[in-house]
Amino acid sequence: MDPIQIPQGYNYISAFLTMRCNLNCSFCLNSIDKSREFNRTKFKELSGEQWVKALNRIESRPEVPVTFSGGEPFLHPDFLYILKNLKKDLNIDILTNLSFEVAVEKFLKEIDPERIKRNVPYACIRVSYHPEQMGNGAELIETVKKLKDAGFSIGVWSVLYPSFENLSAINQMQFRCIDAGIDFRLKEYTGTYKGDLYGDYSKYSNSVLSNKLKKCLCKGSELLIAPNGNIYKCHSDLFSEEFPIGNILDPNFQIKNEFRKCEKYGQCHPCDVKLKTNYKQELGNTSVEIKEIEDNSQPKVIV
Ligand code: SF4
Ligand code: SF4
Repeated sequence: MDPIQIPQGYNYISAFLTMRCNLNCSFCLNSIDKSREFNRTKFKELSGEQWVKALNRIESRPEVPVTFSGGEPFLHPDFLYILKNLKKDLNIDILTNLSFEVAVEKFLKEIDPERIKRNVPYACIRVSYHPEQMGNGAELIETVKKLKDAGFSIGVWSVLYPSFENLSAINQMQFRCIDAGIDFRLKEYTGTYKGDLYGDYSKYSNSVLSNKLKKCLCKGSELLIAPNGNIYKCHSDLFSEEFPIGNILDPNFQIKNEFRKCEKYGQCHPCDVKLKTNYKQELGNTSVEIKEIEDNSQPKVIV
């Protein structure tokens, strides 16, 4: 299979190893549209060998690692095999809830902490703390500490989901992390809470959870690889398994850094259209660039 060059404009590679998850967070970004059912087990999954073959085609830059996510990447049966066999040129980031005692022990024994390390001002293993599923987080801190003491680049992140219980728990968690010497960060909440939409989508108004769909041209800046190897132009297409633009195991697949037609403006995922900062900390960037938005007069079809 030919190598796959990551274009200059691309800044993120995400390998969604599985959509399965051991937790069930109410604010999970996998399923922001509560009117649509999100079936985590219906996603077909590549084997570890297939993932290694596929990912090792990628030619990236040091600042664009392969980020393993999901779902929960530790639930993929070959997760450690994939980590151990990924070519050294590819840097690694991991997003996990780290709630697996046995798997973490194996991870500690088999994975070299130097393999998941880069010179960046944040942790390469970003552990999410979800109060509604993890209680006060004491066990999580023990596990994170074990990995940190072993030399891993690891930190805890919490989403500012605006319920009183969540905010109160993460407030306490930050002090627990400080006491344990663990890097703790907060992440803006994107999604709805009590009827209000959180996040700044002002660059593309009515792009999220709108009742009206519009036609447009859209260009992404992220390589999003689904559990079965399909590539999608945005998170909305990925989570709904619609309109794949290729498959990472297709020997002829190459990334085309171009605008593509879309008729689903209005059903965009917050991750793609929320305003965020770039590497210079300037606000105003979005993961996708959209132009020529026109009224399609199509009411949203719920499937
Ligand atoms: S742990 Fe992450 S992937 Fe799993 S349900 Fe919670 S937010 Fe979603
Ligand atoms: S316009 Fe929205 S739904 Fe369409 S491809 Fe872009 S991000 Fe995805």
